[in-house]
Amino acid sequence: MLQPNDKIVIAVSGGKDSLTLLHILTQIEKSFPKATLSAVTIDEGIKGYRDEALKIATKNCKELEVPHVIASFKEMYGSTLDEIVDAIQKKAEKALTPCSFCGVLRRQVLNTVARETGVNKLATAHTLDDETQTMLLNIVHGDAARIARVKPVLSEVHPKLVQRVKPLCEIPEREVALYAYLKDVDYQGVRCPYAGTALRNDVRAMLNRIEAKHPGTKFAIFRSIEKIRPALEAVTGEAELKECEMCGEPTIRDICKPCQMLQELYTP
Ligand code: SF4
Repeated sequence: MLQPNDKIVIAVSGGKDSLTLLHILTQIEKSFPKATLSAVTIDEGIKGYRDEALKIATKNCKELEVPHVIASFKEMYGSTLDEIVDAIQKKAEKALTPCSFCGVLRRQVLNTVARETGVNKLATAHTLDDETQTMLLNIVHGDAARIARVKPVLSEVHPKLVQRVKPLCEIPEREVALYAYLKDVDYQGVRCPYAGTALRNDVRAMLNRIEAKHPGTKFAIFRSIEKIRPALEAVTGEAELKECEMCGEPTIRDICKPCQMLQELYTP
């Protein structure tokens, strides 16, 4: 996943998972003088929530002496997430949720910042829980190609795409929380006000219920998908990346997902 001379940027939201990853990689990086570490936080523009997270992320990076940049949806897309949510409500389309916009836009901003800061790895703090939830969500959405594509080490190659890695993908969220607690990591405990709207919550609750009754279920799902993935890749084929006709960012479509979603949202 990581090489001794990698230039790594960590996506730090201010929550326990990303700050734990920041603390762990900062420790490990000390043994690798040719590697570099920096952090990026995305300000989606969520009033009453993101401001505190930005302060906590900044404080942790300062204490650990990790260079830190903040990038916002407002700068990149001209709208905060709160403004996008207002537009969603006016549109009154049930399929559109704050999280569907947030996830798509954040992925693109992270890649753009990583590329512009000249790193070759973008590390995100997805845990075993996140990964198994995503795997089941892709099944619920009937998106087999995405199950093949979204993996712990991204294999898609494009000059504008920084390789994404997920060092915590086999660590249960409870263990990450335990690490943060034992190491006294200062993190934001408040949930995003839009979190309740996501289908992911139902999948998370279901997985937690099954895991409590049958420990090891999350690992079993993760391992099963890892075994199935090569067969899926053989069927779905390698996704060919090109540049978005509107913004030039890497995408598998003619128009990237952020451009398409925002265009549809703001077209009357
Ligand atoms: Fe974005 Fe949804 Fe996460 Fe809130 S809960 S930060 S809206 S993805």
